[in-house]
Order: sequence, then C-alpha cells, then structure tokens
Amino acid sequence: MDCIFCKIVKGELPSKKVYEDDHILAFHDINPIAPVHVVVIPKKHITSLMEIQPEDKELIGHLHLGLQKVAELTGVSQDGFRVVTNVGKHGQQTVFHIHYHVIGGRQLQWTM
Ligand code: IMP
Repeated sequence: MDCIFCKIVKGELPSKKVYEDDHILAFHDINPIAPVHVVVIPKKHITSLMEIQPEDKELIGHLHLGLQKVAELTGVSQDGFRVVTNVGKHGQQTVFHIHYHVIGGRQLQWTM
C-alpha cells in the first residue's frame, strides 16, 4: 500500500518521533503551523475517521491517552492545545491514514 504514514511506521521514511508504543506513533509535522505541531497515528492503517470500525474502539481510546502523553511531552498540557482530525475533501485531508494533529505552543484562534 502506498501510504506515507505506513512507511513512517515501518521506518521506510524518516520522522522526528515524539512518542511510540506498540499501537501508536507520534511525530513532528513536516510543515508545522504552530510551535508545537505533532501528528499522532495508529500503526494500523485506517483511512479516516469514517472508516473506524467497532473493533477499533480500544485502539482509538488508547490513541486518545496517547494524545495526553504527547501534550505532556511537548509542554502544551498546561496552557492548552487543539486536536484536529481532517476528514475527506471538505475537511482538507491530504494523507489518507487517520491522524490527529496536536497543535499548540501559542494562542490559537478559531477560524474556518
Ligand atoms: P492532513 O492535511 O490533515 O491530511 O494532514 C497531513 C499532515 O501530514 C500535514 O500537516 C503534513 O504537513 C503532514 N505530513 C505529510 N508528510 C509528512 C511527513 O513525511 N512527515 C511529517 N508530517 C508529514
């Protein structure tokens, strides 16, 4: 499968790792929009939020605990941060392996 995030999981492409365990991987976004911008993914290939299956419930819960860890490791847990998952064309998803952006390190605004 030609998925860049699967290649990062397999070590076929480099990444600046923030956190890793058996099920998830977090790495710095290559094109950050804030002082902290980390991408958090399940190692399992799931295309987007819309393809999460009932059997993925535990994995997605685990990933949310990983988001907490990433916030702590990057120092944004105190002042707050944003978690975003883009879905499909209108959501401007560009990589079709589900991922959660952890964005922080400055005051964010809410614009669409
Ligand atoms: P999306 O637009 O929500 O699908 O987010 C994809 C994100 O992946 C973008 O913010 C990209 O900058 C980021 N990205 C793409 N390729 C790489 C890479 O090789 N390493 C780290 N981040 C990447």
